[in-house]
Amino acid sequence: MLSQILQARETVLSGEPLSYEAALGLTEIPSVEIPYLAAAANEVREKFVGNHIESCALSNIKSGNCSEDCKFCAQSGHYKTDSPVYPQISVEEIVEQAKNAETMGASEFCMVSSGWGATNDREFSVVLEAVRRISSETKLFVDCSLGFMTSEQMVQLKDAGLYRNNHNLEASRDYFEKICATHTYQDRVNHVEMVRHYGIHPCSGGILGMGETPKDRVDLAFELARIGADCVPVNILNPRAGTPLGHVAALEPMEIIRYIALYRLILPKSTIKIAGGREVNLRDLQAMAMQAGANGLILGNYLTTMGRNPARDIQMLKDLGFEVK
Ligand code: SF4
Repeated sequence: MLSQILQARETVLSGEPLSYEAALGLTEIPSVEIPYLAAAANEVREKFVGNHIESCALSNIKSGNCSEDCKFCAQSGHYKTDSPVYPQISVEEIVEQAKNAETMGASEFCMVSSGWGATNDREFSVVLEAVRRISSETKLFVDCSLGFMTSEQMVQLKDAGLYRNNHNLEASRDYFEKICATHTYQDRVNHVEMVRHYGIHPCSGGILGMGETPKDRVDLAFELARIGADCVPVNILNPRAGTPLGHVAALEPMEIIRYIALYRLILPKSTIKIAGGREVNLRDLQAMAMQAGANGLILGNYLTTMGRNPARDIQMLKDLGFEVK
């Protein structure tokens, strides 16, 4: 079995893509071999994206009441959850959060708004102004995740200084229809492709642990590679009470590490960013996950749940030998 890992390592380090069959094979190696897979992925990370960590702070600029029915999401208006619901916050509040994020050590700042076609004209002008101000008043890369945007909005955001737009595929094409009925997978794919078309770095990832199969996880990674995702947030489901996935059993931490490593081998040049659900699912293996090919993480709190103390994460990254801002 170790020969499968060595073969995959050699292939990817030589600049060749990992085949779909080889990736599927790596979903079956025994758990005891996962540290070897992680080590191979770490070498690939070192070769293709180096030692620098991208740390991203999130701002939930408008929360809850979303028209969509994504079964994992505490912000969907279709479910009764204890997630906060509030209208869009002001430019001043957003800029203040960004400055705090910079102080705590973040290299990126992402404004996230709940909803599909999340912004009306007034809300969009707030985002635009926030992008301009954060770009000029901080050294942060500025990102946003606003649901579906028009091409005109993309042009304006790019001109204002937007670096990345996040729009997750969330799952494989096959599995997506089991977790969302109000829009299609192709809608999401089209949006990411449009983001790239307008010269904004496309950030797109998914969620592990929603009941999908190993093949679904591999399929998602290949789809993300196909659409050219520059940054791939790997979330791990943190089941929210009141959502249809509120009782899904958690993945084992070593299984999560298997897929972080596999995502690095499938997407050698992308930022692999460990995102929501990290603390509750990986627990004491968070440092090991960072040695399995990841080169990014979300710093601080998530959209509707708490993260851990950013200073602890920065120390962990330094202890692992990463270059942190
Ligand atoms: S579109 Fe976004 S905010 Fe709305 S339910 Fe889906 S994941 Fe949640």
